[in-house]
Amino acid sequence: MTIGWVIWGFLALEVFLRAALEIAEIRKSGQKNDRFALVRIIPLLNDLLPPESLSSKPQDPESAFAKAHERAHQKFHHGIIRQFFWAGILIAIAVFLGSVGILFQLGLVELLLLFHLLFAASRILFHFVCFSQEYEADTFAAKCVSKKVVLRAMNTLIAEEFPRSPLFAYVYRTHPTAVMRKKHLTKRQMPKSF
Ligand SMILES: [Zn+2]
Repeated sequence: MTIGWVIWGFLALEVFLRAALEIAEIRKSGQKNDRFALVRIIPLLNDLLPPESLSSKPQDPESAFAKAHERAHQKFHHGIIRQFFWAGILIAIAVFLGSVGILFQLGLVELLLLFHLLFAASRILFHFVCFSQEYEADTFAAKCVSKKVVLRAMNTLIAEEFPRSPLFAYVYRTHPTAVMRKKHLTKRQMPKSF
């Protein structure tokens, strides 16, 4: 079996897993899925799709909780860390593709598909980094405002958000779902108030 077949096998597996996730989402939420469902399943096309939380409605930017949350991102240099993450990942992918490409004499299509697979896996890794930053910002923000304000901000988010499972969020979003964020705050900060 050549490495080309391994790459195509992984690609088929990716399509299968993404399709299964979409079906699970529809079953779980009871809602029809959004118009991007098909794009998410198609390899390479799904690389062009921005993370879902960028296109979803942001929470009220004027709320004290949202402001404190944004301050925390700045204070902990989250943006720069994200940029360093991508710089490191892209260099690693380039080095890997270069050496594997030469070693196995891969064609352009195989190199492109291999790049896609590595990029898709890195995105999930990136979301783990983002989630930990979002939780850190939430924890900081929760200390700056009253519990009532936190509760209101979280409940508004939950009401506005398209319901997603945690697995979906890890694959496609830079933000945990509002339910995950509320749960995190409940565990870490305010066991009595929620
Ligand atoms: Zn944030």
